[in-house]
Amino acid sequence: MTSLRGHKKEAGTYPAAPAIPLAEPNLAGNEARYLMDCVESNFVSSIGPYVDRFEQMVARESGSEGAVATASGTAGLHLSLVALGVQPGDLVVLPSMTFIASANAIAHCGAAPWLLDVNLESWTLDPALLRDTLRAETERKGNVLIHRSTQRRVAAIMPVHALGMPADMDPIVETAREYGLPVVADGAAALGATYRGRPIGQTGADLTVFSFNGNKTVTAGGGGAVAGEDMTLLSLAKHLSTTARRGPDYHHDRIGYNYRMTNLQAAVGCAQLEQLDTFVAAKRRVAACYDEALSDLSGVGSFPDPDWADSACWISGAVLETPPCPPVGQVCAALGERGINASPFWKPMHLQPPYADAPRTEMSACESFWERVMALPCSTNLKDEDRDRVIVALREAITTA
Ligand SMILES: *Cc1c(COP(=O)(O)O)cnc(C)c1O
Repeated sequence: MTSLRGHKKEAGTYPAAPAIPLAEPNLAGNEARYLMDCVESNFVSSIGPYVDRFEQMVARESGSEGAVATASGTAGLHLSLVALGVQPGDLVVLPSMTFIASANAIAHCGAAPWLLDVNLESWTLDPALLRDTLRAETERKGNVLIHRSTQRRVAAIMPVHALGMPADMDPIVETAREYGLPVVADGAAALGATYRGRPIGQTGADLTVFSFNGNKTVTAGGGGAVAGEDMTLLSLAKHLSTTARRGPDYHHDRIGYNYRMTNLQAAVGCAQLEQLDTFVAAKRRVAACYDEALSDLSGVGSFPDPDWADSACWISGAVLETPPCPPVGQVCAALGERGINASPFWKPMHLQPPYADAPRTEMSACESFWERVMALPCSTNLKDEDRDRVIVALREAITTA
């Protein structure tokens, strides 16, 4: 997101931060204390007590058996796909409505995304479309599942908990089991969400990946984590993330990666995770305030709220019908003039040049809404009076256009 304020900016060095940013870090807890502890103990790199503690905290907060810290969410996604056996030439099923990092992680394996439409009730992978598409477009050769028109192997399914909203995982996992496909959930912004009353690590996905980038609800400055139930699989992920080194004698048994998180990042991450509950509560509150305050405007809708999940509400905002509302770009510009950073949202993957040739379903759901989504300021430290300024400015921008 362009408005990301990962750090305080020095005047003259960086563009001035907007008066009300979209989603900025909230360093209200033990961040400085834990960082100082890293410096004083000299543990600033990829080994250190905060990395271990961070992994334990992510496991606990997601309801998972274990977790592996990574350098970014993207690295975590790539690592998960490699650990689950995705190979060059394979296809990985992915909803088109996601951030490009999900598709890139697939491409980093030498594989390609097989892009599916989402459903309108959640903006996440449509389970019925998934089942019908696999049924209609794949065949089994031996124990390999083949996508008929490209003759590529289908190797995994990657549902995305878009914006912190869990995908409807039960039917997705049921279809995955039927076809023998592993599931990597892109839960980048979904820590703190629940799915049918269960924590987000307990959806049946083999692995769930989180991001701790600066614009997420909880940040480590940058970073990610892979969580799951299968400790053998998690130790493979850890092994691959640390150059696949076996023991102290520089013996490496595979091509691995340097995808480690540093103790410095983990120190910030631990301090942030201590505040997860209050941060998610703040995110949900601001989302509810926007929904309520804009509900009487004609042509203004809210983000989806399916009955199967309680979203972590990473980003809140509105969906504009045009007309009667002006286009999102115009509304964002009007808010920008008042120092309010509102922003358009993800352009789906099937419209991105690097994925122009990826196999895909028809995309009518995605295409019906993506250009009408507007993200509004929703930092966890957003002041009530600033939130109310956003509401007043938005009402004016929409009704006087
Ligand atoms: C933020 C995000 C990512 C990327 O995470 P990084 O830590 O920035 O690599 C991936 N997928 C989704 C859905 C995201 O929102």
